[in-house]
Amino acid sequence: MRPDDYPASWYAATRDSAPKRPPLGSQDDADVAVVGGGFAGLHTARLLALQGKRVILLERHRIGWGASGRNGGFVGPGYALRTGALIERLGADHARRLYEQSKRGVAVVREAIEALGRPDILMGSRKLSVSRTDQGLDFADRTRRLADQLGASFEPWTTAEVRDVLDTQSYHQGIHDPLSFHIHPLNFALALARDIEARSGRLHEATEATGLARNGDGWRLMTAAGEVSARHVVLAGNADLGVVHGGIAGAVLPVATYVAVTEKIGAALGEAIRWSGAISDTRRAGDYYRVVDGDRLLWGGRITTDTREPPRLREMMRGDIVSVYPQLRDIRIAYAWPGIMGYAPHKMPQVGEIAPGLWVCSAFGGHGVAQTAAGADAVVAGILGDGSRAQLFAPFGTSWAGGPFGRAATQLAYWGLQMRDWWDEKRQAQNAETLRT
Ligand SMILES: Cc1cc2nc3c(=O)[nH]c(=O)nc-3n(C[C@H](O)[C@H](O)[C@H](O)COP(=O)(O)OP(=O)(O)OC[C@H]3O[C@@H](n4cnc5c(N)ncnc54)[C@H](O)[C@@H]3O)c2cc1C
Repeated sequence: MRPDDYPASWYAATRDSAPKRPPLGSQDDADVAVVGGGFAGLHTARLLALQGKRVILLERHRIGWGASGRNGGFVGPGYALRTGALIERLGADHARRLYEQSKRGVAVVREAIEALGRPDILMGSRKLSVSRTDQGLDFADRTRRLADQLGASFEPWTTAEVRDVLDTQSYHQGIHDPLSFHIHPLNFALALARDIEARSGRLHEATEATGLARNGDGWRLMTAAGEVSARHVVLAGNADLGVVHGGIAGAVLPVATYVAVTEKIGAALGEAIRWSGAISDTRRAGDYYRVVDGDRLLWGGRITTDTREPPRLREMMRGDIVSVYPQLRDIRIAYAWPGIMGYAPHKMPQVGEIAPGLWVCSAFGGHGVAQTAAGADAVVAGILGDGSRAQLFAPFGTSWAGGPFGRAATQLAYWGLQMRDWWDEKRQAQNAETLRT
């Protein structure tokens, strides 16, 4: 694969055509320079262009080449750090305001899709998060209490309600979120890019930012063949920012995850999954999936700190699907691909001004399609003079993620969590067996 090609995926196979933007080849200036052509950079650039700011965006590969063009396409509020943990750490009031900001991100995505005149990018509405273990009699009360605390719209579903739409015995209760929806992420990224250009923003692909230096009141961003001077710089490079800013690059841990799309399945899929919204399970590193293209299943799951693509990825993903839906044992995988998520050790995004005029909008982990828009909204408000939204993220700094040691620790932690999930499910199955006998 050439660095300017999109990696093979169902999204790449169904993407809009997009011109190759020329690399930066000279000296240029702007109000704001953005590093990274994923959702974080694109939303930042577009929201600034909407305010009449002159923006230049640099992308190492192509627009939407990273996580933003490869993800599950789920758009919903919340963060990679679970809301319960957020409340524990910051208290209910701060957690509620952060949750509100994530809802703002959902709204930014929805409004952009409408404004771009591309209703086809929105592929389905609502989300169901299902539990692999029985959550007990107080589940509905607990869920409603949490929703109330956060100002959230999600609501509890019983096991019977879940199994009414998902024909599997693997699931128990669920949480239904009517605010969430799902999209074609690569086409959304490409549409955002076109809109930025229509508002006089300049995008350069195949252009890696390799250095950053103070320049009077502003900054100079260096590339191999040119440089950009700007009053503000926004670093939105996710897990692979490279040498442009060692501190931020070292604070984000790259974690791989995978997505597969089946060949067309036919009527059997509609019999197993009678639900057009998004679905995920609530395990620590669970499955997430949705029906696309009428009768294909798009299935995501697994995490590992080994960022190489596993040789038997298709078989692995097929096995995961069949373990939940044994009736789909005859399916074939048409596409399977890896993607890299960027995690800070605290699992919250890094959003804010780290030096005068130097902003970071990164590390959205596995929960970034709406959250990048929430982060961009906060950064743009800050650049325009209102730092209050970026301030919400201030308790989560940019501390070192531990390099290879961090990776090993994360992998160990993931295996530990997998073991706990496995043990919870096994123990519950044994208890159920004991009750039956
Ligand atoms: C397989 C997968 C499934 C996921 N599913 C979901 C989901 O369903 N819902 C959800 O909410 N989230 C999901 N996520 C997470 C979500 O996709 C990400 O959090 C989000 O897309 C991150 O956007 P970003 O702009 O920060 O990063 P990216 O999209 O990775 O963009 C960063 C860009 O910056 C560029 N760049 C980096 N450094 C430089 C540099 N020095 N110079 C120039 N360019 C540079 C990179 O080339 C890259 O294109 C998933 C992630 C993956 C990988």
